[in-house]
Amino acid sequence: MDKLGNPKNTIEILNKYKFVFQKKFGQNFLIDTHVLEKIVNAAEITKDDFVLEIGPGIGTLTQYLCERAGKVVAVEIDKMLIPILEETLAAYDNVRVLNEDILKVDLVSLIKEENNNRPIKVVANLPYYITTPIIMDLFEKHIPLSGITIMIQKEVADRIRAIPGSKDYGALSLVVQYYAKPYIAANVPPNCFMPRPKVGSAVICLTPHKKPPYDVKDESLLFSLIRASFNQRRKTLVNGIYNYEGLSFSKDLILEALTASGLAKDIRGESLSLEQFINIANYLSEKS
Ligand code: SAM
Repeated sequence: MDKLGNPKNTIEILNKYKFVFQKKFGQNFLIDTHVLEKIVNAAEITKDDFVLEIGPGIGTLTQYLCERAGKVVAVEIDKMLIPILEETLAAYDNVRVLNEDILKVDLVSLIKEENNNRPIKVVANLPYYITTPIIMDLFEKHIPLSGITIMIQKEVADRIRAIPGSKDYGALSLVVQYYAKPYIAANVPPNCFMPRPKVGSAVICLTPHKKPPYDVKDESLLFSLIRASFNQRRKTLVNGIYNYEGLSFSKDLILEALTASGLAKDIRGESLSLEQFINIANYLSEKS
C-alpha cells in the first residue's frame, strides 16, 4: 500500500471502497504531506510515546503516527471507514483501531489498560463539530497527558490562545489556559483537505502545565464563575455571577470579593485575567 497523504492515493482508496463523505461526522481528510509532517514534528513523537488519535479517517495521519510512535490507538466513529483502515494500516503492528464515538470512550480505563496510566499524547485532525467537548473532556477527566497536537478551526485556535481584553477572549481561553500552554504550530488553508472545509484551520499544541500554575480551592466553582461571566457578555461581572443558575452568592458578597481582589464594581468578565478569576473564586469559597 502506497502512503496516503496526497490527492491521488486518497482518491484511489476512496473510489475502491465507494466511500461517501458524511458531513455530519466533519470528514475533511488531509491531502498535503507538508502539513502531515508539520503535525507529527510539532507533536515531537518518539518510540516511547503512546498516541491517541481521534478520527483517523482513511488512516492518513495514522500512518505517520505509526512510523514515529511506540503505540497508536485510533478511535473512529464511522464504521464505513473500518475496512479501509484495515487495508491502509495493514503494514503496522503497533496500531489498534476502535470503532467508537470518542465522547463515549472510557479514556481513563483505556489508558490504564493500554499504557499503565502513563501520560499519553493526543494527535488529531479533529472533527470540527465537537472540538470544544473533546478538548474539555481530555482536561476535565484529568487524563494523564504529555501533549495535545490538534488541527482545529483557526477561529477556535484564536479563541483558545486569546488574552484578556481581546475580542476572542472567553471561557474557552480561560479553561484551556488553566490546564495548558497553547501554541499555534501552523495555519492551514482549506485546499489541504478533501473535501475543502469552509473555514481556515490551524494546528495548535497544548502543553499541559506540569503542576497547577495557581492554588485553586474549588475548581468547579472557578469554572462556574468563568462560564457565568461570559454567559451574558454585556453584563457586569457582578450581575453575570448573581444571575447565573447554579451559583447563589449575594450581590454584597460578590462585590466584597471584587473589592478584596482590587477590582472595580462595574468590571466585566472579559477584562479579567485567569489569576483574577481565581482570586475571586478563592475568596467566595472561603466565605461561603
Ligand atoms: N485523520 C483524518 C485525516 O486527517 O485525514 C480524518 C480527519 S476528519 C477531519 C475527522 C474524522 O473524525 C473523520 O474520520 C470522522 O469520521 C471522525 N469522527 C467524527 N466524529 C467522531 C467521533 N465522535 N468519534 C470518533 N471519530 C469521529
